Amino acid sequence: MESYQKVTVAGGGVLGSQIAYQTAFKGFDVVVYDINEDALNQAKQRITKLKDRYKTDLDATQAQVDAAFERMDFQSDLKQAVVEADLVIEAIPEVVNIKNAFYQELGQVAPEDTIFATNTSTLLPSQFAEVTGRPEKFLALHFANEIWLNNTAEVMKHEQTDEQVFEDVLAFAKQIGMIALPLHKEQPGYILNSLLVPLLDAAQGLFIKGVADPETIDKTWMAATGSPKGPFAILDIVGITTAYNIVKQKADKTGDQGAAKLAELLKKEYIDKNKLGTATGEGFYKY
Ligand code: NAD
Repeated sequence: MESYQKVTVAGGGVLGSQIAYQTAFKGFDVVVYDINEDALNQAKQRITKLKDRYKTDLDATQAQVDAAFERMDFQSDLKQAVVEADLVIEAIPEVVNIKNAFYQELGQVAPEDTIFATNTSTLLPSQFAEVTGRPEKFLALHFANEIWLNNTAEVMKHEQTDEQVFEDVLAFAKQIGMIALPLHKEQPGYILNSLLVPLLDAAQGLFIKGVADPETIDKTWMAATGSPKGPFAILDIVGITTAYNIVKQKADKTGDQGAAKLAELLKKEYIDKNKLGTATGEGFYKY
């Protein structure tokens, strides 16, 4: 079994900065790689804000949050960023061409033994496996937003991922405080979204058909399954804008009448009235 010591996180955006900071907080040396000094400065600002969240949410001490930051280094030269890396976690934009170009270069400059993991939400690792030049040392390691609180790590193999690499990445996920969830086969949406997306779709379908209102639909789900939240309460957390974007794209692509009606309703009754969910204090519910 391989135990990773040095980790490079590529992309210091929303998720990358969280992954990097959580990893450093758990005692690893971390390099954050991003495209230029400007992007690295933004990553540093994000991480500075995270220090406060760790203090309020986790009761971390000033000394702990500072020590974590001290374990981090920032680099805009990819070769330098990965020269000592045991593991590279990629959290760059969800754009196929950008990820392809990144893996092409990474495969050439990274040491032969370095393992690569992608945090992609909607793409599949097999899509990039060949271009990495080391398909057996590549897999998905998918985190949720606010990882210090929502600590799931879905670890997903593709057909060529080495079994030992899979085990090692699962062990690493545990070491950084995650609930490590093994996915033995590729699955679009991983486990969580494979379950959640159909539930949210079905709930919105019942609403737009006029079968029942959101409160009744949530009440049914909660009372019957013992779940603490119903689909509309979850949609408020996800954000109505995201729900709208998904359903609008579906309507435009397929011409589905129900989807078009739902998109119009979400726009008129929620987005235009700034009812965007928990973020603005009101969505399907008031907070
Ligand atoms: P983001 O836009 O906040 O950050 C992307 C970062 O990548 C930026 O700092 C940008 O400067 C940098 N970047 C751009 N091109 C690059 C390149 N060629 N090399 C290195 N860095 C580059 O994006 P995000 O929300 O953090 O998402 C990143 C990845 O994480 C995506 O694959 C996304 O699907 C996944 N993800 C996001 C979330 C989420 O809630 N935001 C949750 C889980 C997974």
